[in-house]
Amino acid sequence: MKAPIVPNDDYPERSGEPDCPYYIKTQRCKDGLRCKFNHPRATAEAELVNYLATILRANEDCSVI
Ligand SMILES: [Zn+2]
Repeated sequence: MKAPIVPNDDYPERSGEPDCPYYIKTQRCKDGLRCKFNHPRATAEAELVNYLATILRANEDCSVI
């Protein structure tokens, strides 16, 4: 069997625990499901939304000029 190259995002979300510093920095965690820290999945989605908003805003600026 082949091991998947792409890391899955099955990291534990533990509300009430401190955020995993490794996961916050890299969106990955070497301890995976065994990690005791919180892995907020919303972070990646929030960054994506931010990114899209930036693009939209840049387009608006261009059209104004
Ligand atoms: Zn972790």
